[in-house]
Amino acid sequence: TNPYPHWAGAIRDVADFPRPGIRFKDITPLLADADGFRAAVAAMADPWRAAGVQAVLGVEARGFILGAALALELGAGFVPVRKPGKLPGATLAQEYALEYGSDRIEVCAGAIAPGTRVLLIDDVLATGGTLAAALLLARRLEAEVLGAAVLVELDGLGGRQRWPDGLPLQATLAY
Ligand code: IMP
Repeated sequence: TNPYPHWAGAIRDVADFPRPGIRFKDITPLLADADGFRAAVAAMADPWRAAGVQAVLGVEARGFILGAALALELGAGFVPVRKPGKLPGATLAQEYALEYGSDRIEVCAGAIAPGTRVLLIDDVLATGGTLAAALLLARRLEAEVLGAAVLVELDGLGGRQRWPDGLPLQATLAY
């Protein structure tokens, strides 16, 4: 998405994190900037303002920060998708492959009523494994999935190929 908005400059590139050879997009300087944070959330929300989003599903941990802000911006509820063992009571779990390693995410069983119109949120789309797993959890909750929004899409890692054709996947910035 060119040209980049002025606030995109607050996203920092960190070499060799969390492992050698990985170039990490660090959004924390953007979050720390009041105007930048507000502008980034507004830009992520814009395509979804008329979509009738009822719940935002945000993936731990940066998906919580952006997702909670998006939920307020869109007048929706927020549902946390968490790392294993963090959520109380009955959960649904999904294994997935990460850019670095593999993991599992969980959501509370019955977190939303069947048919709830949901938007999935994460900060960065890399290989797409996380978002694809979150989509499976949303489907197992019987949500009506409207699509997904990420702040940053990293091109060339195949993330978009792991997302279903025809289901909206909105990236505010692409690198
Ligand atoms: P994926 O599953 O490979 O698409 O990786 C996406 C997940 O890993 C997201 O939850 C991101 O928060 C995290 N991630 C991967 N690469 C980066 C990065 O460069 N910056 C920040 N988070 C990243």
